[in-house]
Amino acid sequence: MSDKPEHAKCLIIGSGPAGYTAAIYAARADMKPVLYQGLQPGGQLTITTDVENYPGYPNGTEGPKMMEDFQKQAERFDTDVRWGMITSVDFSSLPHKVVIDEKTEMTADSIIISTGASAKWLGLESEQRLNGFGVSACAVCDGFFFKGQEVAVVGAGDTAAEEATYLAKLCKKVTMIVRRDEMRASKAMQHRVERTENIEVLWNTETVEVLGEKTVEGVKVKNNKTNEEKTVPVTGFFVAIGHKPNTDIFKDYLEMDETGYIITKPGSSNTNVEGVFASGDAADKIYRQAVTAAGTGCMAALDAERYLGAKGIH
Ligand code: NDP
Repeated sequence: MSDKPEHAKCLIIGSGPAGYTAAIYAARADMKPVLYQGLQPGGQLTITTDVENYPGYPNGTEGPKMMEDFQKQAERFDTDVRWGMITSVDFSSLPHKVVIDEKTEMTADSIIISTGASAKWLGLESEQRLNGFGVSACAVCDGFFFKGQEVAVVGAGDTAAEEATYLAKLCKKVTMIVRRDEMRASKAMQHRVERTENIEVLWNTETVEVLGEKTVEGVKVKNNKTNEEKTVPVTGFFVAIGHKPNTDIFKDYLEMDETGYIITKPGSSNTNVEGVFASGDAADKIYRQAVTAAGTGCMAALDAERYLGAKGIH
């Protein structure tokens, strides 16, 4: 028996819209992709309920169902979809090496990274229990379901300010829960918040608990200067305290910004390492939509195909 590790022409890491779209394109281009699903098969969409803004679903769909469809489409063209996690990589020489589940080595001529990002959560039990039932980390995805209702946004960065102003257009009232007496968001975004009449900012305020049995009915907050507690009656609770790209295992090799988003060459999915391409939220801190992730997944497969062609790898 040979000790030589298994080799793939194209290895895709991650199973969100970026990974599966890359797989569909790579498989149809006969690149015989192997896709490792990672810790959360289907990615962030599997923790949302309804998806109404993905083109092609006139009546909307559900996040988990949509990701099942993505997977089926990738498998229809013989993508080898596997359960497992890439736990380390070595991009120092060709072919690139990865380790699966801390034990099995594999090599690949091209690698498409689509490991996504994870929303940061406050860490409250009630927040976890009501996730998808009024608790959300994406106003653009879920804001529509709270039309005409009162909602809260926790956080004070650009994302929170942007989500609050987005929600203010749809909702009756938006309460921003800000833990300090100032916001981290850019001045321009802060001015937008100030100018929006139906946004109320609660300064020096922390979330104690999200209230409600089956769906969100309110949020209990505490002023951290006075210790005074009160209940804000809301049906939606949006957590916007930042995202963390799932890119730790690549940090020794790939250029990233200070928060860990992979830097790609403008207009492409090329990273600073040849044969390694990045797509989806792992390389996008601005848009973070399923449809943009799918778009960059397609770019990565096309870039990888071109790269393999130029190298004469068929
Ligand atoms: P940030 O890290 O900038 O902000 C996170 C916010 O959440 C901070 O205000 C922080 O409070 C607050 N926070 C963190 N943990 C908690 C907690 N446990 N309880 C309460 N509040 C908490 O993340 P963003 O997602 O807002 O932005 C990430 C990056 O993306 C930034 O560089 C931003 O500028 C950029 N961005 C740009 C946009 C644009 O240009 N249109 C749109 C969106 C994002 P504190 O301030 O007290 O630390």
